[in-house]
Amino acid sequence: MTGPRPVRAPRGTELSALGWQQEAALRMLQNNLDPEVAEHPDKLVVYGGTGKAARDWNSFDAMVRTLRGLKQDETMLVQSGRPVGVMQTHEWAPRVLIANSNLVGDWATWEEFRRLEALGLTMYGQMTAGSWIYIGTQGILQGTYETFAAVAAKRFGGSLAGTITLTAGLGGMGGAQPLAVTMNGGVALCIDVDPRAIERRIEHRYLDVRADSLDHALQLATEARDARRPLSIGILGNAAELVPQLLAMQAPIDIVTDQTSAHDPLAYLPIGVEHAEMADYAAAKPAEFTQRARESMARHVEAMVGFQDAGAEVFDYGNSIRGEAQLAGYERAFAFPGFVPAYIRPLFCEGKGPFRWAALSGDPADIHRTDKAILDLFPENESLARWIRLAGERVHFQGLPARICWLGYGERDKAGERFNEMVADGTLKAPIVIGRDHLDCGSVASPYRETEAMLDGSDAIADWPLLNAMVNVASGASWVSIHHGGGVGIGRSIHAGQVTVADGTPLAAEKIRRVLTNDPGMGVIRHVDAGYDKAAEIAADRDVRVPMRES
Ligand code: NAD
Repeated sequence: MTGPRPVRAPRGTELSALGWQQEAALRMLQNNLDPEVAEHPDKLVVYGGTGKAARDWNSFDAMVRTLRGLKQDETMLVQSGRPVGVMQTHEWAPRVLIANSNLVGDWATWEEFRRLEALGLTMYGQMTAGSWIYIGTQGILQGTYETFAAVAAKRFGGSLAGTITLTAGLGGMGGAQPLAVTMNGGVALCIDVDPRAIERRIEHRYLDVRADSLDHALQLATEARDARRPLSIGILGNAAELVPQLLAMQAPIDIVTDQTSAHDPLAYLPIGVEHAEMADYAAAKPAEFTQRARESMARHVEAMVGFQDAGAEVFDYGNSIRGEAQLAGYERAFAFPGFVPAYIRPLFCEGKGPFRWAALSGDPADIHRTDKAILDLFPENESLARWIRLAGERVHFQGLPARICWLGYGERDKAGERFNEMVADGTLKAPIVIGRDHLDCGSVASPYRETEAMLDGSDAIADWPLLNAMVNVASGASWVSIHHGGGVGIGRSIHAGQVTVADGTPLAAEKIRRVLTNDPGMGVIRHVDAGYDKAAEIAADRDVRVPMRES
């Protein structure tokens, strides 16, 4: 048996595997567990409640060992965080194929999942935890920034200056919220029960200050709002208590959302439970804990609806808190919308989504060079340029230096090919890993999040992410994954990921061209099929073939 120990990806150009495609998978697996990157690396937990990179330490060691010896025509198979086979394939095939947390429909409940997990048969892979392309809080930062920018455009004249946003959850993903709000000029009040989460965000410059009390927090918030000065404030406490209290105090809140780990009722602290007791209590009495967490979520959501009734802009930030509150019997849980139908779907229609990349050299200068390449490639895109500049100034790298920016169909392939050229001509010191979140335009079926309220009612149709994974395998991605339950919890989503390595070779250029065209192409065709005019226009303009529209 092997146990927890610090893990960090090697940097530089010395290979420990037989080629860069394998080396990239190895370093990204290790990078996911870097203590700078992962929320609880000793438990192999990367982010998002219990999202893990490997099932157990023995599996981790076996994956490292196998990747080091894997040939250019072999593929390692990973079943929920454990390597289960190596098959001879061919050079165009992915080096790793991953299936995480998948369960047959009638068995797809948290209870059954936990039973199987306790037997050591499965693990929760979240989205990019078990598919090794998590890049720290930055990974979600641009999406969060874009979402708050869309809120600003919809309700507040294009800027959040002079507004106060109330939210909770300063974890791996939720920790992006304060910086995304201040980048949009606003004030953020952020609640978390874990003092470590607050400290970590302050340390990484995602959060500005911590308030001593609710009154202190409101005083700081209103002063900054009145001066139209961006400020983010952390408050220690339980959101299920503090959000209703703020409503009762008639706090002047303009925008309300939440990113606690509500998708997993064992990761949401119920009212009346100390944070220090949370893990033991959840492990000892999961059913009782779940019931109490759901009741607390109902109080939390009821207060969010109260803010909406009082005129605030309120949205679900993709954590299933409405569904959990409804399970506890709160009838108005779905009174406010999810963020995808409210703000993001038009971007999905263009095949836009969270394109991200990491520098295997470990040198931040490589990312700064790729930033410059993005600015040069898309000079007409002002919001992209603003984002790249702000990210360059304000984003603290966690683990291997990385960047994210939302790019659409016809853009991602250009960026990928440019990066590959820069590796080939020595502008970059080592290869670049190019991937994305599973939260993308054509890679998810998730009726409480990415596919909520689809125009044709196809929210729960899960053929799309499966086709997406198959297309990426067929197109030459370096590793491809199919997961269940990411973001919103077991039983509620199926999603796929791909990562493709720009190692500077002509073969990589060919693969990148296909993968980074076809992958966002899935987003365009998915939305054409669902009846979105915007997607049909994009398909017609950019020659995306949709047989049912051809005569
Ligand atoms: P995480 O587990 O790293 O962090 C969750 C945080 O919530 C922790 O810091 C925890 O202390 C805090 N928390 C738990 N119960 C609380 C309570 N009652 N009151 C206050 N704080 C409480 O999770 P994460 O990676 O930050 O993800 C958060 C949620 O957001 C998940 O449900 C995830 O699926 C969802 N998510 C949304 C998006 C998106 O784009 N909208 C993306 C990724 C994740």
